[in-house]
Amino acid sequence: VITKEIEFLAPESVAEALEVLSVRGPDVTVLSGGMSLMPMMNLGIVKPSVVMSLNHVAGLDSLSVEDGELKIGGMTRHRTVMTDDLIGTHAPMLAEAARTVGDVQVRNRGTIGGSIAHADPSADYLPVLAAGNAELVLASSEGTRRVPAAEFFIDLMFTVREPHELLTEVVMPVLEPGAGSGYVRFARVEGSFAIVNAAAVIGEGYSSTHIALGGVSPAPVMLDASDLFADGLSDEALEELASRAFDASEEATGDIHSDADYRRNMAGVFARRAVELAAGRLATAGGGS
Ligand SMILES: Cc1cc2nc3c(=O)[nH]c(=O)nc-3n(C[C@H](O)[C@H](O)[C@H](O)COP(=O)(O)OP(=O)(O)OC[C@H]3O[C@@H](n4cnc5c(N)ncnc54)[C@H](O)[C@@H]3O)c2cc1C
Repeated sequence: VITKEIEFLAPESVAEALEVLSVRGPDVTVLSGGMSLMPMMNLGIVKPSVVMSLNHVAGLDSLSVEDGELKIGGMTRHRTVMTDDLIGTHAPMLAEAARTVGDVQVRNRGTIGGSIAHADPSADYLPVLAAGNAELVLASSEGTRRVPAAEFFIDLMFTVREPHELLTEVVMPVLEPGAGSGYVRFARVEGSFAIVNAAAVIGEGYSSTHIALGGVSPAPVMLDASDLFADGLSDEALEELASRAFDASEEATGDIHSDADYRRNMAGVFARRAVELAAGRLATAGGGS
C-alpha cells in the first residue's frame, strides 16, 4: 500500500525530462509501463518521493533502421516489439522474446526500456540483447553514450545508468541475411518469469556463434562458441557447449523455484536448444527458400 504523498511529473519532451533529471536526478524515479515499478511501490520495496512518467514524452517509441542498425525507442511496448514488422524482420529474436513476457496486460503496458532499466536477471530481453550485440543509449542533458549490452548489466537489478541519465533507445545490429537466431526459455508456468533463458546468434555458415544465458547470474552470461561449430552442428560440439554453459554459470543461486545446480544444468540444456533453433533457421535462410 502506498501511504505517502508523491510528487508526479509528466514531461512532454525528452529535453524536458533530461532537464528534470539533471537537476533532481537522485530524487526522481522514472515511470515507463509501471509493470515492475508499481508492484514494487505497492509492496513498499520502493518508496519514491518524485515519480516522472515518460508516457507523455513525444518520440520515445520510434522505430527505424539506419546504417545496418535497428533503433527501438525505450517506450516501445512489449506488444509492439512482438508484432512490429521492422523488428520481426531485422531482430526476430527480440519479437520472439517479447511474445513470452508475462501476460497480455503486461505486454500491452510494459516497455522494452523499462525492462532493461529494471534489469531483472531473468528478464526475457537480456540474453537476446547480449547475444545480438545490442547497445543501450543513455541520454543526459550533457549528451548521450552508447553502452554495449554485455557491459550494461552490472548486478541484480543494477546497471551502469547514472541517476541523471535516461535510457532512451535500444540499438541492435540487423540480423545479416543468411544468419540465424533463436531464443528459448524455461518456465514452470506460462506467464511467469523464466528460470533460465538463452539466446543464440549464428553467423552465415557458422562463421560465428554467440550465446547468452539469463537467470544463472546477476547479469547475462556470454559464451563465444565459434570454435565449436566450425564444421556445423555435431552431438560432440553440442555436448561441449552444454558443459561450457554449466561452467560459465558458476554464479547461479538457488531460490524457491530451483536450486543452483539445477539452474546450471538447465543452462546447458537451453544453450543447446538455442543453438539448435538458430541453426535450423540458418539452414532455412541458406537454403534459398
Ligand atoms: C505479472 C507480471 C509478469 C511478468 N512477467 C515477465 C516475464 O515473464 N518476463 C519479463 O521479462 N518481464 C516480466 N515482467 C516485467 C515486465 O516485463 C515489465 O514491463 C518490465 O520489467 C518493466 O518495464 P516497465 O516499462 O513496466 O517499467 P517500469 O515498471 O515503469 O520501470 C521499471 C524500472 O525501470 C526504471 N525505468 C523505467 N524506464 C526507464 C528509462 N527509460 N530510463 C531509466 N530508467 C527507467 C524505473 O524507474 C523502474 O525502476 C512481468 C511483470 C508482471 C507484473
